[in-house]
Amino acid sequence: MGRVWNFSAGPAALPQAVLEQAQRELLDWNGSGASVMEQSHRGKRFIAMAEQAEADLRDLLGVPDDYAVLFLQGGATQHFAQIPMNLAGPDERADYIVSGHWSEKAASEAAPYLHVNLAASSKAEGHLRLPPRGQWRLDPGAAYVHYTPNETIHGVEFHDVPEVGEVPLVADLSSNILSGPLDVRRFGLVYAGAQKNIGPSGLVLMIVRRDLLDRPGRPMARIFRYAEHAAAGSMLNTPNTWGWYLAGLTFQWLKRQGGLAAVGERNRTKAARLYGVIDDSDGFYRNPVDPPSRSRMNVPFTLHDGALEAAFLAESEAAGLLALKGHKALGGMRASLYNAVPLEAVEALVDFMGDFKRRHG
Ligand code: PMP
Repeated sequence: MGRVWNFSAGPAALPQAVLEQAQRELLDWNGSGASVMEQSHRGKRFIAMAEQAEADLRDLLGVPDDYAVLFLQGGATQHFAQIPMNLAGPDERADYIVSGHWSEKAASEAAPYLHVNLAASSKAEGHLRLPPRGQWRLDPGAAYVHYTPNETIHGVEFHDVPEVGEVPLVADLSSNILSGPLDVRRFGLVYAGAQKNIGPSGLVLMIVRRDLLDRPGRPMARIFRYAEHAAAGSMLNTPNTWGWYLAGLTFQWLKRQGGLAAVGERNRTKAARLYGVIDDSDGFYRNPVDPPSRSRMNVPFTLHDGALEAAFLAESEAAGLLALKGHKALGGMRASLYNAVPLEAVEALVDFMGDFKRRHG
């Protein structure tokens, strides 16, 4: 079997051009006679690559100089805990906006480290729409406000950055980072597990306003302290060298795609095409999310008859459409349309969906 169209929620499809470049360079990276994974992160070649990756990311997102860029480990989940450890003392408070599974988890993982104020939640409505900004009960004394701009499982996405005043805004961008332009200045800290829009799992990208690194937090080992990682150029210990390298290749690929405005436009087109087919299917397919809250990255949908799900999954896989099974928490289907999923893949999916409906409708 050759390459298939891959709709995995994560670890997700990587750009084919990136994989091919990594394949070409695997045995002899950059004239070194060894792979990038087999050499010191303190060597000249690796340092140059790492610096280039950071420069390309800064260029893509327009990251200002007063923000540090960190290449960390531990998955986004570890940082659910590490962010409160770094940004607040044990007696402080932080606001959490709960709009789905991952923001709820971020709040519960923060709870051992500070007072979590659940400032808004859409849980009672099944997370089918974003908690309306007018109903958020923000605490002006909070150490930060945390939210999840894109909920990977529930398929809801903020299409604007919420205004929260002077309190630093912290965002888990795991499933929509680099999916379009972002005004980094609106945030105190953003972070993302790499395995959707950046590269392989095991790498976490963080962009943090430098003044926040000076917060005392609490006593903790250096390895947990973001300020130490920033001071050491993310090489406090051995970084995920392979992940960093692939992230760098992805940043260069994004630049070749025309940058984030062009990529964002393509993502809008892809999502509109799929939602259009779902909404025009006379109820055969259904996405329950309130349209203004719908995610461009993760599109959950159900079939009008749950008994058809197994056939849908088996036939779609046979047609070369991978990983359409929904998350177990919601059931149904989910198509993830990250940057590396081309419009051609979405066209193949909607053709299949039309054909499946004709045969089973
Ligand atoms: N946040 C979001 C939005 C996610 O989609 C995920 C799952 N990939 C996580 C956090 C958890 O990420 P990790 O498995 O890297 O800890």
